[in-house]
Amino acid sequence: MSTIAHERFEAVIGLEVHAQLLTKSKAFAPVAAQYGEAPNTQVSPLCLGHPGTLPVVNENLVRYIIKMGLATNCSVAPKSIFARKNYFYPDLPKGYQISQFDTPICFDGFLDIELEEYDKRIGVTRIHMEEDAGKSIHDQDPYNTLVDLNRAGTPLIEIVSEPDLRTPQEAYAYLTKIKQIVQYLEICDGNMEEGSLRCDANVSVRPRGQKEFGTRTELKNMNSFRNVEKAIEFEIYRQIELIEDGGEVVQQTRLWDTTKMQTRVMRSKEEAHDYRYFPEPDLPPIIVTDALLEEIKTELPELADVRQKRFVEEYGMSEVDAVTITESRYLADYFEEVAKHTGNPKSASNIVLSEVLRVLNEQSIDIGEFSITPERLAELVALKDGDKINSSAMQQVFNAMLDSDKSPQALAEEMNLIQVSDTGFLEPIVDEIIANNPDEVQRYKEGKKQLMGFFVGQAMKASRGKANPKLVTEMVTKKLES
Ligand code: ADP
Ligand code: MG
Repeated sequence: MSTIAHERFEAVIGLEVHAQLLTKSKAFAPVAAQYGEAPNTQVSPLCLGHPGTLPVVNENLVRYIIKMGLATNCSVAPKSIFARKNYFYPDLPKGYQISQFDTPICFDGFLDIELEEYDKRIGVTRIHMEEDAGKSIHDQDPYNTLVDLNRAGTPLIEIVSEPDLRTPQEAYAYLTKIKQIVQYLEICDGNMEEGSLRCDANVSVRPRGQKEFGTRTELKNMNSFRNVEKAIEFEIYRQIELIEDGGEVVQQTRLWDTTKMQTRVMRSKEEAHDYRYFPEPDLPPIIVTDALLEEIKTELPELADVRQKRFVEEYGMSEVDAVTITESRYLADYFEEVAKHTGNPKSASNIVLSEVLRVLNEQSIDIGEFSITPERLAELVALKDGDKINSSAMQQVFNAMLDSDKSPQALAEEMNLIQVSDTGFLEPIVDEIIANNPDEVQRYKEGKKQLMGFFVGQAMKASRGKANPKLVTEMVTKKLES
């Protein structure tokens, strides 16, 4: 936002995030819910809306949403019901989605987001269960719209935030946090590009100091975290300009256009009463007993915030490093495996934060797709810690390990990188360096001790990187200072 606009106006943002759950089967029907199968192969009479079919709740849908509720500090309703949300659309053969309306199973929570300059607590209004609709495909047939019902009935949770967010950056941080939590809980893969995490953003602006919220628009169709940030930014500008030109914001749903980088009207915003919500007559209420709640609490993993603090305390990691390494649960797991096998958390975090992260970025892959197992990486680290190879050799062996299953030891030997700690081999090398560099020797003797780096460098060069630098240092010291 331009600073001038920012001075006079403040944005108010609330997000509605849909997360597609990683259950094996659909929300209310015993059919597989896998992504990417051939169109219309994962459908049952229930997904097709055939008369006489009856829904049954997938138990994991309930368990997963309770996990999310607990992880976001929500209260869990002992009793909640499903509701029908009615509307007509070609990819919704039933004519309604099963959702929850006035009794969401989780409500009144919060989560904490961290920005560069401040931390902030964002309220979570509610989290409810619902099923997805099918998919209309407009780009495969020049004359017709095709419908794929594989996604119809896939379990979703919708996480609705309070209008507590004030900037596009806060919205981005909030979304990132949600992604991290669902991944830690292993209830959703958190992939926004593939649509397993979707976000609608409600945006309004108001003059600074005004208490009442302005009229909001709802933004849809942002398929990446960055696009959410950009769409909100654009929309804030648009609304401010409109108001400054004497116009009024109209409540409407707007679509983000990635190529034009702007939002455009999709429809005037619907209201809840347009959907004619009513209690789902075919499903019993969801009863959450204390026993179930306790059981699910014991299943919760250590979440990122807690893990971060532990890494700082237990491994002496810096806060910045701990944040980076716990960003993904699987990267943190990977690091802890390496640390366990080497017994040296410091070297383990060094190599994970430098070499491993570099490769993940370069290849745009997740740690789950990374080819070196923690055990093998630990062997490499142990070679370095045991002074068998030096740090530049460690990098070379690391790179070789990416395309080879051989042990780090075997690769280091093959590449002739095992450090020579044999004084018999190093003695003539060191003597020659001293003989060939009288100037440097003279200056060193006069007190320019930094020249040690020069001697060690020469020894490394002469030994093709195999000299043990510690040993060379000792030998040079002895020869020049005695
Ligand atoms: P619906 O999408 O059905 O209209 P709600 O009225 O519950 O749902 O609001 C949805 C989202 O809009 C929530 O995240 C809420 O925080 C946010 N919101 C509500 N009022 C405003 C506003 N004036 N400006 C920005 N966001 C708002
Ligand atoms: Mg909405």
